[in-house]
Amino acid sequence: MAICGFIGLGVMGGPMAGHLANAGHEVRVWNRTAKKADDWAKQYGGQGLSSIEGMAEGCEIVFACVGDDPDVRHVAALAFEAMAPGTVFVDHSTVSAALARALKIEADIRNLGFIDAPVSGGQAGAEAGQLTIMCGGDAADFAKVEPVMKPYAKAITLMGEVGAGQLTKMVNQICIAGVVQGLAEGLHFAKSAGLDGERVIEAISQGAAQSWQMENRYKTMLQNEFDFGFAVDWMRKDLRITLEEARHNGARLPLAALVDQFYADVQAMGGNRWDTSSLIARLEKDGD
Ligand code: NAP
Repeated sequence: MAICGFIGLGVMGGPMAGHLANAGHEVRVWNRTAKKADDWAKQYGGQGLSSIEGMAEGCEIVFACVGDDPDVRHVAALAFEAMAPGTVFVDHSTVSAALARALKIEADIRNLGFIDAPVSGGQAGAEAGQLTIMCGGDAADFAKVEPVMKPYAKAITLMGEVGAGQLTKMVNQICIAGVVQGLAEGLHFAKSAGLDGERVIEAISQGAAQSWQMENRYKTMLQNEFDFGFAVDWMRKDLRITLEEARHNGARLPLAALVDQFYADVQAMGGNRWDTSSLIARLEKDGD
């Protein structure tokens, strides 16, 4: 069993840290809003700490699942100060590959390990311990952390050197953007054509149109419920870093760029924290 630190107890980090505690690891947590750490400690019996440095000191592995590049840069800098040589920092946030590479350089200077390990599977996957984890880093560091991540993973893959996990997550988001927009248009068309949306999905969900989004999101999309899941603000962040990366590597992403603008429309409707399936709300907005 390992001594683990966990920074960021949001929709994803909270249940992930919970799985570590349930698996028998010694888990210390820190959250910017301290109440979440207190509530987590009450629920899982771990320890909520009041500073990142205090939490990271003595940990064998420190995990983070926060937000965007500046958030990870901030919490990693504080954790690195307190971590002992030979220990490993695992970043589960979705951020730029450039940041992952920069943190690897910082970690090397201090003789720390660093793994970028963004996840896919959403809130439900985190709660069920069924996340897909895409990793980048040295094989020796990966070998230290892979068995510890298993309680919340369905699949864990080392994709290459640091940054490769984030690049793989970008591919994931490119694929999702097109699929969600397609599903939104399909359901919107079904309603406009006077079809019963439930029956349409019943009929087509065993065929070639089937997808995770269809299986997990069609009901709430038909009911206009978006107050859960993967926030539009986070998807825009993911598409921003993906489109930035594409500008460097020359990939052409016309659909991802278009869907990014559709998400800007959803934000303008007040949907910053709505689930990404809210693309359908944009199509069904009164007056459009
Ligand atoms: P969330 O529910 O909004 O939680 C974000 C967490 O990060 C909170 O604990 C927040 O603290 C903390 N945080 C944000 N900025 C911080 C800062 N500057 N310093 C310290 N702590 C900070 O987000 P989430 O949905 O768990 O997502 C977390 C990461 O996982 C993101 O990178 C996201 O893109 C990625 N992700 C999310 C999903 C999903 O379905 N939700 C799926 C895959 C990947 P407070 O409690 O104080 O706000």
